[in-house]
Amino acid sequence: MIFVGLLFLFHASMSLQYHVPIASQHRDSVLSVRDGDGELHPNRIATVDDQSTDIHLGQHDAVSKARLGERCGPGKRKCESYLCCSPAGYCGMTAAHCMSPDCQLGYGTCDADKVPEGKSTKRIQRPHIGGVPYGEVIVTCKVPYTFAMTYDDGPNEFTRDLLDILDKYQAKATFFITGINSGKGQIDDFTRPWGSLIQRMHYSGHQIASHTWSHQDLTASRKLRKQQILKNEAALRNIIGGFPTYMRPPYSKCDEDCLRDMDQLGYHVISFNIDTADYINDDPDKIQLSKDIVDKALTSPSLDGRPYLAIGHDIHAQTVYNLTEHILQRVNDAGYRAVTVGECLEDPRDNWYRWDYRSA
Ligand SMILES: [Zn+2]
Repeated sequence: MIFVGLLFLFHASMSLQYHVPIASQHRDSVLSVRDGDGELHPNRIATVDDQSTDIHLGQHDAVSKARLGERCGPGKRKCESYLCCSPAGYCGMTAAHCMSPDCQLGYGTCDADKVPEGKSTKRIQRPHIGGVPYGEVIVTCKVPYTFAMTYDDGPNEFTRDLLDILDKYQAKATFFITGINSGKGQIDDFTRPWGSLIQRMHYSGHQIASHTWSHQDLTASRKLRKQQILKNEAALRNIIGGFPTYMRPPYSKCDEDCLRDMDQLGYHVISFNIDTADYINDDPDKIQLSKDIVDKALTSPSLDGRPYLAIGHDIHAQTVYNLTEHILQRVNDAGYRAVTVGECLEDPRDNWYRWDYRSA
């Protein structure tokens, strides 16, 4: 405690000596330590704060929250609690300010701060059922002549049509679902179409998997990782009665600590061995490049039934209205089956979810 107190005095004397305008980060460092450590000696904090207030004009600007249109973000202030800090670092209330994943968490409000209704899933047991490994990155399938097409970041406005296309080919796919991103609102808000689309996926035999609540980088902190997983679980539980045992980390980022947490939370971490690169080819003139990637894989002379796990995104028009049908035709032509990730890993459907049998 003495060390921390001395540190504050040192900071205060530095700003006195150099006449540095009170920076928000100086004040924030006091606040953040205070938030994280309730044992700080109150007199010592008061002394430092009092000195700063007496000497520096503009102190109130430093501690006040940033208002509409003002700057926010790292090294700057937080927005007033009802405002969002945009990706570019301005306080505001529009969808562009507030939507995840780029709304700046912790510097104001964000749509990602919403919490799904009902009980948290954190107390639900998570036994490691089945033979598929938990907490380690899986890049390929197991069953010969299977092709597991996966779609990340949805559902979205195109997803209904994608489900129709999959039905037409009697193909199954896996959806790595994000709970609230790209301004679509919560997936379990039944005034929107997402919940019923997810139910349709589920009852049609597709696999529902997690792509986290608001598509944040899971390597940022343990607290964020758990929130991101648990909130998406609660939202999916509100839709299908349970939550998945399969997940894909946003940006494919999950370091050792993250993998350890996914292991504890009971998740299979799914990567891919074909990247369709659809997100950079979402243009009628470019999507052929994505088709070429799949064609090359499925016409390889050494193919011999090698199973594939492919990534795409149902938030892109060309993926849904152009690429998917091409892939499904090629899969059929090559004598392959379009299946879920669970099926290509020979994991029975019962193992894909954990059900929440508690009353609401
Ligand atoms: Zn994603």
